[in-house]
Amino acid sequence: MKVTDHRLERAPCPRCGLECKRHSVKEIIKNKVKHLKSVHYCTKCLKYFTTGPNLMGKYNDAIRCRAVALVIHEGMTLDKASKASKKAIGKHVPLGTIHSWVCNYRQRQVEMAMEASNA
Ligand SMILES: [Zn+2]
Repeated sequence: MKVTDHRLERAPCPRCGLECKRHSVKEIIKNKVKHLKSVHYCTKCLKYFTTGPNLMGKYNDAIRCRAVALVIHEGMTLDKASKASKKAIGKHVPLGTIHSWVCNYRQRQVEMAMEASNA
C-alpha cells in the first residue's frame, strides 16, 4: 500500500495559533493510500487537531497561495485570513483548511531547505 507521510513535530493551533507539540499519529486510509497525520493537542484551547493536506481539494492555487501569504508573510491569524479570503472570493474558507495549507507550505519549505543543503 502507498503511504504518504504528513507528520509534523509541531503545528500551530487552528483556533489560537499556539505552536503545539505532537500528541500522537493518526492513520487515515483513503483510495488505497495510507495517510499518516499528526494529532496535536492545544494546551490553551484544550482541543485536539490534526495536520495534513486537505484531501478534498475544493480551492484553487490562487486562493490557497493568498491565504498562506496572509498568515506567513503578513502574520495574520487564521481567523483573519479566513475572513480576508471570504472578502476576496465571496466564499467561506474554514480555519482548518487554511491551517493545513500553512502546514503544507511550511513542510515544503523544510523539504526545500533540506534539498538545498544536500546539493
Ligand atoms: Zn489553541
